[in-house]
Amino acid sequence: MMSAAIPITQRLAGKVALITGGASGIGECTARLFVKHGAKVIVADVQDQLGRSLCQEIGSEETIFYVHCDVTCDADIQNAVDTAISKYGKLDIMFSNAGISGEMESRIILSDNTNFKRVFDVNAYGAFLAGKHAARVMIPAKTGCIIFTASVVSVVAEGAIPYAYVASKHAVVGLANNLCVELGQYGIRVNCISPFGVATPMLRQGAGMIEKSKVEDLVSSSANLKGIVLEAEDVAKAALYLGSDDSKYVSGMNLVVDGGYSITNPSFG
Ligand code: NAD
Repeated sequence: MMSAAIPITQRLAGKVALITGGASGIGECTARLFVKHGAKVIVADVQDQLGRSLCQEIGSEETIFYVHCDVTCDADIQNAVDTAISKYGKLDIMFSNAGISGEMESRIILSDNTNFKRVFDVNAYGAFLAGKHAARVMIPAKTGCIIFTASVVSVVAEGAIPYAYVASKHAVVGLANNLCVELGQYGIRVNCISPFGVATPMLRQGAGMIEKSKVEDLVSSSANLKGIVLEAEDVAKAALYLGSDDSKYVSGMNLVVDGGYSITNPSFG
């Protein structure tokens, strides 16, 4: 039997979400979508001006609030999570999404060591801290949902993608799997989203492109990328599904959003 009808536009009614990297790209789009679906949202980022004006544009402080948070700083993530609790009373969804691409050099001999550590710090250590502080408040609540943005490079070896980025995204999936096993007993679900290339500032900067219109040219001109480019909303909708009760028995998944690219070009498993 179908459960009581929830209005299709209010999938996150009553839920509180924290989005790291929420000021731009996938995070920004997810913040908009989550609020539209009835959630209260904490946007956590290092781009303070962008994050604040985004929140002002989306709604009042009753609904959405910006917190400065460098995901590589334990105290910052602790503060962002505690702000969700003090402002909105709880934390239902941690969307650990902040990330950087780092240098674009993909040959190991030429790869910069400092860059490797920095990318790992933001993408992997930042995800670890987000998972840790989400667990801190979700375990006593005996409910919650943690979503990590990994990448299609966690399931496909591209060759053209820098080592630091690839390794950090594998780390994110491993972290999520372990958390899923540990936290399931508390009713906490843990999943990843692994998108293909998404038309966001990261892709544009990584590609050395300035104009958004050039992204499509870049992607379709690459022999390896098969001509697809996602919009941030394609990923935000995956986060909406994983954050809502529509996916209440979905945990331990790496939801690949790539138009079938990885199954057409399998590398692992
Ligand atoms: P983006 O650059 O538009 O957004 C990333 C956000 O993370 C920015 O607002 C940035 O300020 C923030 N950020 C960076 N370092 C931070 C830090 N130390 N602390 C807090 N926030 C920080 O890029 P995006 O494409 O929206 O990226 C979001 C996530 O999606 C990343 O994890 C990225 O690796 C992943 N991803 C992106 C693509 C793509 O092609 N764009 C593909 C697969 C996965």
